[in-house]
Amino acid sequence: MIKNYKELSIRELHNALVNKEITPLELTKLALEEAKNDNNNAIEYLMEKEALEMAASLTEPEKDNMFWGIPIAIKDNFSTKGVPTTGSSNILNGYVPVYDAQVVTLLKQKHAIPIAKVTLDELAMGGTGTSGHLGTTYNPYCKHKKRLMGGSSCGSAAFVTAGIVPFALGSDTGDSTRKPASYGGIVGFKPTWSRISRYGLFPFAPSLDTVGILTRSVEDASFALEVLAGHDEKDATSSFKEVDKYSEHLEDDIKDYKVAIIQEIFDSITNETIKKTFLESVKKLEDRGVKVGYVHMDNELLTSLFPTYFVISCAEATSNNANLDGIKFGPYHDGKTYQEVMANARTIGFSELIKRRFVFGSFALMKENQHDLFLRAQRNRRHIVEETNKILEQYDFIYLPAAPSVAPKIGEKSDRLSNEYLIADNHLVIGNFAGLPSISLPIGYEGHLPFDANISGRPFEESKLLNIANFIEKDTHLKGIYAKKEGE
Ligand code: GLN
Repeated sequence: MIKNYKELSIRELHNALVNKEITPLELTKLALEEAKNDNNNAIEYLMEKEALEMAASLTEPEKDNMFWGIPIAIKDNFSTKGVPTTGSSNILNGYVPVYDAQVVTLLKQKHAIPIAKVTLDELAMGGTGTSGHLGTTYNPYCKHKKRLMGGSSCGSAAFVTAGIVPFALGSDTGDSTRKPASYGGIVGFKPTWSRISRYGLFPFAPSLDTVGILTRSVEDASFALEVLAGHDEKDATSSFKEVDKYSEHLEDDIKDYKVAIIQEIFDSITNETIKKTFLESVKKLEDRGVKVGYVHMDNELLTSLFPTYFVISCAEATSNNANLDGIKFGPYHDGKTYQEVMANARTIGFSELIKRRFVFGSFALMKENQHDLFLRAQRNRRHIVEETNKILEQYDFIYLPAAPSVAPKIGEKSDRLSNEYLIADNHLVIGNFAGLPSISLPIGYEGHLPFDANISGRPFEESKLLNIANFIEKDTHLKGIYAKKEGE
């Protein structure tokens, strides 16, 4: 029997499984036990029966399959056949999909074992992990439940941060995989837009949505991408580009790489510990022969990131969620007309925050406002992408702190008009605007709370991105960290 499974990476768990030091059933039982004892409010539905059944059927170890018998968690905005899927919204209470999302199918084909559907901000719209219908998901680093996990992939991040599973599926529309990863000191990876099929992922804003990967090491993230990437005829937006053997390039030479730091984004961060630790990490990359340069982006353009994101994402969200009407989806609430039925279902089914986003999105799409809001935001997005692409013509990567702080205290207010908020807290959305592969990984601690840096590369250059991230991880010695129970 192995010692503490939470300490182990996917490769190490895989070795233990194929060497029969532990069986998939034993490992699944351990993970289920941890999940049940976890009190961070991260679970929508514990797949106990399903997981035990699946694990018991795995008797022939598969040496070349890293995911054989590995327990995983699934964000509750991925369709799972026969298993309740709510998007953490009351409007989908009781909904049991009749099909699996493509990524779920792929993981099942590899005999990974989903043990839980986990929480999110309602319908993935949020960044705090407080807005799902079950309430706040807590950060495992604070046993007094005073710190945010961050969202929207809060349950996925909490499960990986607590060590319950080595991998969880997330989604990322603005930063929802990479931001909670930073608050948990884990790896959060958003591949290139279209790299992974989104069939069965509830759409939020499809021009930005990406399947996300949460792990505790860069190598584990590369294993996950190898399973998930590739064209899927059920998702017409998925790419036909060939899938690399990402895990085989992690040790490639990085000395010819060029890394850009966007000065104005770095300057918008005030936390000295984060800045200092980040610069130490930069220095270590330079010591490895990587060339690092400071580049510039117009400050006004950067302060437009959040409003631009908000207009585009809310506009797409309101149209993509029009099917949640109490007839096609969602609990039926009686009324005299279709409009009344729909209004009742949506009034009861959605929280205040979601309604606000839909109202805002619909307002931006109204004929008389479209020009000044929606189309203007689209033009500005193009402008941001062009500026980003200019940087990526000269440099292979953009490297920055992932967030301006460690996991905030619950209820802590930030000044929404400060650069700290508008730029430092929202710059990860550049990766979604431009469709870039982008990965957050831990680089240090403030007190006992970890924080991440983020590195983004050119579209479809995931191999290179994971390669350099692997070396950043070597320099920090923070591979595999998880929240032990001592907490604050
Ligand atoms: N925090 C952002 C929002 O509230 C991003 C959400 C996401 O990536 N799903 O919209």
